[in-house]
Amino acid sequence: MNQIIDVAIVGAGVSGLYSAWRLKSDAGQPGRTLNVRVFEGSERVGGRLLSVKPPFVNDTFVELGGMRFTEAHVLMCGLARALGLASGELPDANANNIAYLRGQRLKMSDLTDPDRIPYVIDESLRNRESLSNLVAVAAVRSLGPAFKELLDIDLTLETLESVTAEHWRTIGERGSFEGKPLYETPLRYILERTLGHGAVQLLQDSLGYDCILWTWSAADGFPFNLTDMRSAVRHMHLVDGFSALPRRLHEKVLALGVNVQLNTRVRSVEDTLLPDGTTGIAFTTVDDNGAEALSVARKLILAMPRRSIELLDRKGPLFDSRGAGFKSLLESVSPVPLFKIALCYENCWWEKVVGGGSNGKSVTDLPMRQVYYWKVNPHDQQGVVLIYDGGLTKSYWEQLDNAAAPKPQVKLTGRKEGVDLWADYAAPSRIIFEAHRQLLELHGLPESEVPAPYAAACMSWNRDPFGGGAHFWNMGVRSHEVAEQILHPIERCPIYLCGEAWSHEQGWVEGALATSEAMLTRHFGLPPLHDTQLV
Ligand SMILES: Cc1cc2nc3c(=O)[nH]c(=O)nc-3n(C[C@H](O)[C@H](O)[C@H](O)COP(=O)(O)OP(=O)(O)OC[C@H]3O[C@@H](n4cnc5c(N)ncnc54)[C@H](O)[C@@H]3O)c2cc1C
Repeated sequence: MNQIIDVAIVGAGVSGLYSAWRLKSDAGQPGRTLNVRVFEGSERVGGRLLSVKPPFVNDTFVELGGMRFTEAHVLMCGLARALGLASGELPDANANNIAYLRGQRLKMSDLTDPDRIPYVIDESLRNRESLSNLVAVAAVRSLGPAFKELLDIDLTLETLESVTAEHWRTIGERGSFEGKPLYETPLRYILERTLGHGAVQLLQDSLGYDCILWTWSAADGFPFNLTDMRSAVRHMHLVDGFSALPRRLHEKVLALGVNVQLNTRVRSVEDTLLPDGTTGIAFTTVDDNGAEALSVARKLILAMPRRSIELLDRKGPLFDSRGAGFKSLLESVSPVPLFKIALCYENCWWEKVVGGGSNGKSVTDLPMRQVYYWKVNPHDQQGVVLIYDGGLTKSYWEQLDNAAAPKPQVKLTGRKEGVDLWADYAAPSRIIFEAHRQLLELHGLPESEVPAPYAAACMSWNRDPFGGGAHFWNMGVRSHEVAEQILHPIERCPIYLCGEAWSHEQGWVEGALATSEAMLTRHFGLPPLHDTQLV
């Protein structure tokens, strides 16, 4: 019995480490005596948070994974404060940046000027207010009756501002459009019907994401696009990189006596009878050298996304007949392929076009989609740009990065190779040259004027074990019900799930924290975070 782990957590991403920290910090004390262990398949903590240090650029980390949060992310903001992590503003919009769409080089501020946009748009939308709020206009045009009937709210662009998550839940569960439930109605269909194709194309192209308008139902897609993705939202970042969050949680849980085993992948999970007659979980792990071990836990938390779970051996309660319902819960979300590449240049040549002190993003309908002017070294002018493609299916970039293609790095121009983690994610040359070429096209500069980057790092999040950078609820799913059930998917079997994938803040760390919080309060008896001394 001594060797039985009380709580085994699989995955040392944010949700896994946060769960370990909460369990061990339980102010009610029983947590302090719990034997909690974390098993992480890779060599580092943090999962989809990956801050890398660009060579020869001082004072910055580039985010190849998650990069920002908003002031409305209460768990994230509270946790950053509790862990003593410094944050700052990360500007998103800058009127002088470029929107290179349909071969025309506009300024971002032109996107709300009906006379400048190269899209055919209905007369009723050809004004600045509508053009800067297209998703909101679609919501007002389509959801007015549902808001009136279910919530007695007269929906306008103004009243939409004060709609809460609870309101959206009611609308998502009981609202309809053309007599069909909203959760069975594609968001994209409502946008096409209420705005017209030209406006939808403008919206998609200028947002810089292909995935967020396409993939899901109106019940889940509207709240996502009308809360965190609104242009008015203020974005924050962690000054020491987003990875500082899992790193600090890691330090905290180690200090609380949690064993975090890196390079230890969990391969299979089965239920077992414990000596005291209760049901526990037996699971096999494989380390870096291929050595297998069997461990037993009273409770097991899978703090990982859909693809990671699908990679487990197909046996045990999750995958045999007892898991029949689990399969549909697991498959209720789809992974979205996200790709990032950071390029380091000897000088900030783009400032010739967008002006000095560049920040925020430019957008384009080229495959690169979004470019963030990341950082200018004030002392010697090196700069970094971060390209971010939130694709729909297979990433354009991933197809260039196939194993058969040679992967030499672009030669460093007279400089030494850069910093550790950066080098681990060094980009293959075909991707670097293509990203560089598209950057020049976006800025309207010839190749002869701009030397190639001296270093580049990239990450395609489709790769195993992630399967995608973020997840969106599938069409036809009653997401609030699934989100509740998947926390403890099989009755009488002590397996629990948390993480971003089945949350209502998908694509955000806030989602990973919110599902962990829900799991811990509902199934582990912990008091809600705000009732503790932790924040
Ligand atoms: C490109 C990109 C941009 C993003 N932008 C933002 C942003 O700006 N703001 C924001 O808040 N969020 C953003 N996100 C989302 C954010 O990164 C995630 O929501 C969050 O990090 C997910 O944490 P998690 O714990 O749910 O899962 P993960 O981080 O995926 O952690 C799962 C862990 O489990 C491990 N694992 C998997 N299988 C096994 C196994 N069999 N055995 C042991 N270990 C295993 C993995 O190695 C991993 O460490 C972004 C993500 C990406 C990829």
